[in-house]
Amino acid sequence: MKSKSKELKLTIELVPATSWYDNLRKVLPKSDWDKIRKRIYVEYGHRCGICGTKGRLNCHEIWEYDDKKHIQKLMGFIALCDMCHYVKHIGLAGILSSEGKLDYEKVVKHFMKVNNCDEETFKEYKKRAFDEWRKRSQYKWRVDLGEYEDMIKNASKKGKNEKKS
Ligand SMILES: [Zn+2]
Repeated sequence: MKSKSKELKLTIELVPATSWYDNLRKVLPKSDWDKIRKRIYVEYGHRCGICGTKGRLNCHEIWEYDDKKHIQKLMGFIALCDMCHYVKHIGLAGILSSEGKLDYEKVVKHFMKVNNCDEETFKEYKKRAFDEWRKRSQYKWRVDLGEYEDMIKNASKKGKNEKKS
């Protein structure tokens, strides 16, 4: 299922508040998360997968939402620069800027530059993204880790069983 915003290169992706799951690095041991992260950075040639910027990267999970069955499925990962990552998590960007830790305007400008659009388009799109988030946050979501399920389960088991051997 595709969202309505397919024309935008850089989109906002808000994880429903009701999803227990928001971050793989909280579930996985750090060493396993680092392995995934580094593999993704190599795969993307150490550049942002959206705007091509080199420098500090973030490993971002790509989710697909089934709005009928309320299943949140992990589709893969993408390497993102800080600015693209802040757009994805625009709610967090807002919090950080209210704490004086981030220039929100810079995030908005980055969105406009990458998507080649004006501020009006950003505002409208952001409103739609939050409307969708509010709607999705009324339901409980089942997380489907897809092809990563075994890897993640094994990694968390390995951590627990280490004392046994
Ligand atoms: Zn970028």
